Amino acid sequence: MTETAEPTVRYEMPTDNIARIVLARADKHNAIHPQMLFEVNDAFNRALYDDAVKVIILAADGRNFSAGHDIAGTVEEYMEAMQAHPRKVGHWSGFTEEATHGWYAAEKEGYLETARRWRNLAKPTICAVQGKCIAGALIFPWVCDLIVASKDAVFSDPVVTFGVSGVEWLAHPWELGARKAKEFLFTSDTWSAEEAWRLGMVNHVVERDALDDFTLAMAQKIAAKPAFALKLAKEAINKTLDIQGQANAIDAAFSLHHLCHTQNFRVYGWGMDPTNAPGLATIPGRPPKADS
Ligand code: ZN
Repeated sequence: MTETAEPTVRYEMPTDNIARIVLARADKHNAIHPQMLFEVNDAFNRALYDDAVKVIILAADGRNFSAGHDIAGTVEEYMEAMQAHPRKVGHWSGFTEEATHGWYAAEKEGYLETARRWRNLAKPTICAVQGKCIAGALIFPWVCDLIVASKDAVFSDPVVTFGVSGVEWLAHPWELGARKAKEFLFTSDTWSAEEAWRLGMVNHVVERDALDDFTLAMAQKIAAKPAFALKLAKEAINKTLDIQGQANAIDAAFSLHHLCHTQNFRVYGWGMDPTNAPGLATIPGRPPKADS
């Protein structure tokens, strides 16, 4: 979770009306830490408030889209980073409070309020995914309006294996359908781009070397439409999901996610259960299993 002076996100304008936000931490498989979350948010803001930008692409450098949350640091480091950051997104506070209070606030800021804001941005967004997209990384494509995946893309949310009910933004039933969402969570299996496309989660699957060009061409086709109509088409469909209960369901699931964290903190001394993943207990700053 160590933050650096180096930017973790790159902002590009491949054409004069399309912004491309690129996760640029390929040496760490674009693992997500607070610095990256806030830099992604800053980049989305830049694209949102630039009226010349009609469509926003979210992409990633390297072999893998993202390995998910960077768990190399401690919970305390994450909470302190949330407390220290001057440009917060949500409406909560108390990120360094003790026990559940602070951890809940910090994850709400970093993983729930950010995701909701990006999902509701008033411009079309397209996520281009290659390689692995694991757990917390699913939030990036899922908050975008469209997803293009390369043939080598794979998706997984293995956190049930670690004693948690699912990643913080629990959009699984909306993205996969309820029955397949349960299988995805219960088994921790990794699913291919083709399977994600079959389930309706992904719009198109393309060759790896065609990912950038295909996504840009799609963005250009959309960018040719009237901006206000695009905004309202997005709003209409997002509102439909909201009326169906998506926002409340995700909020409820976030609370259950934290019930799991609290259980694990009480039993193991930190937020995940290392029983089925002994490597997790060896991360610096993590205590070993309670009974070992
Ligand atoms: Zn969590």
